[in-house]
Parts: sequence; structure tokens; C-alpha cells
Amino acid sequence: MNLESIKAVQQLLSQPQKIVIVPHKNPDGDAIGSTLALCHYLVNRGQEAVVVAPNDYPKFLKWIPGNENILNFEKHNSQAKEKIAEATVVFTLDFNHLGRIGQMQSVLEDLTVPFVMIDHHQAPSDYAEVMYSDVSMSSTCEMVYNFIEFLGDVDKITVDMANCLYTGIMTDTGSFKFRSTTGRTHRIIAGLIDKGAENTQIHHRVYDTNTPGRLHLLGCALKNMVIHDMYRTAYITLSQDELDTYKYQKGDTEGFVNYGLTLEGIIFAVIFIENKEEGIIKISFRSIGDFNVNEFARTYFEGGGHNNAAGGKSDRSLNETAVYFESLLENHKDQLQA
Ligand code: 5GP
Repeated sequence: MNLESIKAVQQLLSQPQKIVIVPHKNPDGDAIGSTLALCHYLVNRGQEAVVVAPNDYPKFLKWIPGNENILNFEKHNSQAKEKIAEATVVFTLDFNHLGRIGQMQSVLEDLTVPFVMIDHHQAPSDYAEVMYSDVSMSSTCEMVYNFIEFLGDVDKITVDMANCLYTGIMTDTGSFKFRSTTGRTHRIIAGLIDKGAENTQIHHRVYDTNTPGRLHLLGCALKNMVIHDMYRTAYITLSQDELDTYKYQKGDTEGFVNYGLTLEGIIFAVIFIENKEEGIIKISFRSIGDFNVNEFARTYFEGGGHNNAAGGKSDRSLNETAVYFESLLENHKDQLQA
């Protein structure tokens, strides 16, 4: 964050504001952790602040301090719209173009108040007056920590804020194993534990909440896995029927895509999940090393993300999507073959 942006934020926060904080649609641990940490910080500074999420999020995040005050734009629509209409400042966290917030897009586009973006994804669009955008960061939670540090307030990080920030850094780094995890990430994590983050409890609450249905769905996903050793690629499909059979709940497929990468020699893993309600196939891409899945998702599947973790969608059927995907592998054989 440059000096000019820090001054602009200090100027904004020097007066009482009504602040709305927005994560992306289908918020994950980093989106919920970062928005709630920022919300606690701003409220503790005497500001009026609320998190408005575009839609619901998984049950394994519903213990994060402050989550009970999140307004879900789909569920609490009139209350959420009221807060947005009253807002004098909007913070958008963990995304960088308004197409990532579903139905909230048109509502936010109509606003004339200043926007502050804090985000670590590639290719930010230019809707925000103040932009803290850094693709080298492990997580938006690490950036919120930095943001608080830029404002000289690390000593004001409370136990609740530490729990929020720890959760987002942990989930977005794959429990501190992805390439974006730096020495500084670990130092921040150490500092958060010193401030009271309940690290063991957080891992337990996020990762040890399987239901039998989820484990059976995982079994189905692993059975469906297609492996193309020649392209060092593995992909999984899950149809709506399969999701229904195992009583799919939001968040149940979280992490499934990573199983492909646990196969020796595989560097590109994908999951295609049918969503009949939205009429799309939601896709997650993961890679190890230099194969850039952000570019792949942007080029072929209207998506984006990071070099090693991205998402996208397809309007074709599940089967047609898989066939199309297979046809693309040949185009990338130089990058995929050993
Ligand atoms: P996931 O596969 O876990 O949903 O997402 C991986 C990364 O890609 C996350 O950083 C997420 O924000 C981003 N991402 C997921 N889906 C999309 C999408 O449809 N468009 C864009 N631009 N980014 C996405």
C-alpha cells in the first residue's frame, strides 16, 4: 500500500463513516476472515461497520467471531440494501472486479461513495478510489494485517481479530504450504498466536467437521477421477444427481480438487461441479509449479484467480465441459508434459 493510499484511508477514517464491507460470492475462509477482522477493527475505532456477503457460506466458517452479524444479501435482502444505501464508504475484500459479487453488482455499481479495495488476485479493475492490490500476498487476511500495521494499530489487534485473520491465512495457504507462504506470513501467524488466536481450535473447527455424507461424496468424487498421465493432469466430475444422492451442503466439496495434486507426477488438477439451479458447471483449477491456471481459467472458462489456484465456469453440460477440457490439454502439452 503506497503512502498516498494510506493517507487517503486515514483521511476517510478521521471522520465517522457508515461502512459496508463486502466479500466475494461464495465466500471462503479468507473472504469471511478478512471482512470480519476489518469489521472488528473499524468498529473498535468507533466507526459504524457491517459485513454484507453476496450469499451464504459454509457451516465450518459459522463460528468465526462476528459471523452472527453478517448480512446475507440473498437472505436479508431489504436490510442489506438499506445498509448499502446508507453507506458512506465501501470496502471490497478478496476480489477485484464487481462481477464477482453476483446480484450485488448492480447495487454497488449505482453507488457514488468511495470504494477501498484490499485484494491479492490478478488483474484488478478500476472501480476503487483506494486500491491495496498485491498478487504476491498469501491471503487477503495477511493484507488486512498489513493494512492495520500501516495505520499503526497492530497493538489494537484483539483476540477476535486474531482468530479471524489466522483462519483466512490458514485456509488460503493450504495450512501454510502454498508457494505464497513466506517467512513474514509465518511471523504474522506467530504474532496472531501471541495475541490469542486459538490455532489448534481453528484447525479443528475448519477441517474436522466432516459429515458421513461429505465423506461419501468424497468417495464418489475420487471414484470419478480421470487421470491423464501424459498431460500430468487429473480431473474430477460431480453431477447434480451425485450431489443430491449424498445430500450436498454448501462447502462439502471444498478441497476435493486438491486430491488430484496428491498423485505423484500430477501438476494440474481440476474439479467440475454441476449446478443445475444456476445452469452452470462451476470449475476449480489447481497446479503445482509454473503451469498458470489463472490464465487457463481466464482464456477458456470466464474465470481467474491466482497462478496456482483459480476458478471459472462453463455453460455446457457436464459431459461436454469435460470433453472440451480434454481437447484443450493438447494445446498446452508443452507446458504440461514433463
Ligand atoms: P476456488 O477454486 O477455491 O473457488 O477459487 C480459487 C481462486 O480462484 C480463489 O482465489 C477465487 O477467488 C478465484 N476464483 C474462483 N472462481 C472464480 C471466478 O469465477 N472468477 C474469478 N475471476 N476468480 C475466481
